[in-house]
Amino acid sequence: MAKTYIVLTPNNQVNFSTTRAVLINNAHKIASAFKNYGAGTEAAYECVGCNRELPIILFHLDHIRSQSRYAVSNLGIKGSGGFVTLNSDLDKVDAKVNATGGMVTVATGSIYNPKIGYIQSSEIWKNDLKNLQLLCPTCNESKGSKDWVDWGRALNAAKPLSKVIKGVWDALDDIFA
Ligand SMILES: [Zn+2]
Repeated sequence: MAKTYIVLTPNNQVNFSTTRAVLINNAHKIASAFKNYGAGTEAAYECVGCNRELPIILFHLDHIRSQSRYAVSNLGIKGSGGFVTLNSDLDKVDAKVNATGGMVTVATGSIYNPKIGYIQSSEIWKNDLKNLQLLCPTCNESKGSKDWVDWGRALNAAKPLSKVIKGVWDALDDIFA
């Protein structure tokens, strides 16, 4: 069963602004270097599209597979009642995915207080860290709504944030294994 990695809010909701905020707040952990570009030392990152190194704050969050196509393919999560593993930066939960109904039922696990939340499946696809990577504005604008492969890159050249974060968030090691 394919796993989906997302960031949950404390209320078990999923939205792009939260995902973005968590990534920005952890930019120093994602950085490939720390340099002074003239505004003091800051986190830097090498664009996987053009290999230029820029301040990480300038990067866009790119959907490796475009949002529209990704939502249709469901990443192999097929049928109602399929279980996948979701997580936030510190907590993990089991999720029951209704892939056809457009809603996800989340039954929280270990660390969270047990309760049920509802998440739009479109938000799952949009926020899946396996499908998000950092791309410089030039590359992202060039890629547009194309899939990574359709943009002319091999899929194994993509650098999903689930992989980037793996080495630095120890709490996720057992999940990302
Ligand atoms: Zn680039």
